[in-house]
Amino acid sequence: MVWSLRILTFTILFISFSQQGHSNLILFYENGNSAHQCVSRGGLILSREKISDYYFVKDGISIYVLPVPVTVSSTFADVQICDEEMKIERIWFRKKRRPSLPDIDKIKREKEILNNVYTLRSQKFWLGNFILPVRDYKRIIENFGVRREINGELAGYHRGIDISGDIGTKVFASNSGVVRIARKFTLEGNLVVIDHGEGIFSIYAHLQKIKVAEGDFVKKGQVIGTIGRSGRATGPHLHFGIKVGKVDVNPFIFFEIEDKIDKFLEISAGAM
Ligand SMILES: [Zn+2]
Repeated sequence: MVWSLRILTFTILFISFSQQGHSNLILFYENGNSAHQCVSRGGLILSREKISDYYFVKDGISIYVLPVPVTVSSTFADVQICDEEMKIERIWFRKKRRPSLPDIDKIKREKEILNNVYTLRSQKFWLGNFILPVRDYKRIIENFGVRREINGELAGYHRGIDISGDIGTKVFASNSGVVRIARKFTLEGNLVVIDHGEGIFSIYAHLQKIKVAEGDFVKKGQVIGTIGRSGRATGPHLHFGIKVGKVDVNPFIFFEIEDKIDKFLEISAGAM
C-alpha cells in the first residue's frame, strides 16, 4: 500500500517482472531429504516432524506447517531459499508525502487490532482447496513479494496478490470460516478478514461494499463483498492475502493446498 498515490501527479511506475512458476512454493521436509531442494519466499514447509507451532490435521494426522516470510535471506530453518529474481516496483515522487499525525496513530491502532486477530487459533473451518475469490476478474497480478521502493528507499513488500475487476464485481469467501474483521480501515479501506481455523486467515481489501458482519460464519464461495477502490488504492481491484499465523504466504499455495497435503501424506506414508 502506498501513501496517497493518487493525489500525486508526478509518478513513474516501473515494475520488473519475471514470470515465476509456483513449483517451489511448497516444500516437503522429511529427515533432511529436502537438502537438494529450495523453497520460495512466502512459501510453506510441510513436515511430519514438529518444525513449527502450526499444524494442519488431515485424517487425524498432524502435518506441521512452517511459513517462510518474504523477508528471509538465503536460508531459513536450515532449508535453502530459492535463488529467484527479486521483483521490484519503483515509484518516484517529486516530493515526499507522509500521512498526517492523527492518521499515523489511527493506522497504528488498526494494525494492533489486526495483529490480535492473527494470533487467534480456531478449530478447523476450512475444507478442500481455497478458491480464487473473484470469478469475473480482468487480470490477476502475481505481485506477491514484490519489493516496493519509493524514491530509491525500501518501502515494504507486497504481501498478497491483486485481482483487478470492475467496481461492484462480486467477491467470494475463498474458503469457509468465521468473519473476524468487516469494517473500514485507513489503508486497506473496506476490509474483510476470515478466520479459517488452524491459524489460516484470508484478507480482502479495498472493497466497495461489505456484505458480511463480524462473527458471521461464511461458506466457501459465499459473497462477502464487492470490488472497490476504498482506502489507499490506485484503482479498482481486490487485494487478496493469506496468512498462516502472522506470516504472509503466497495465496497460490492455498488454491492447491488439499492436493499438496494428500500428496505429502502419500509420500510420507511410503517413507515410514
Ligand atoms: Zn495489493
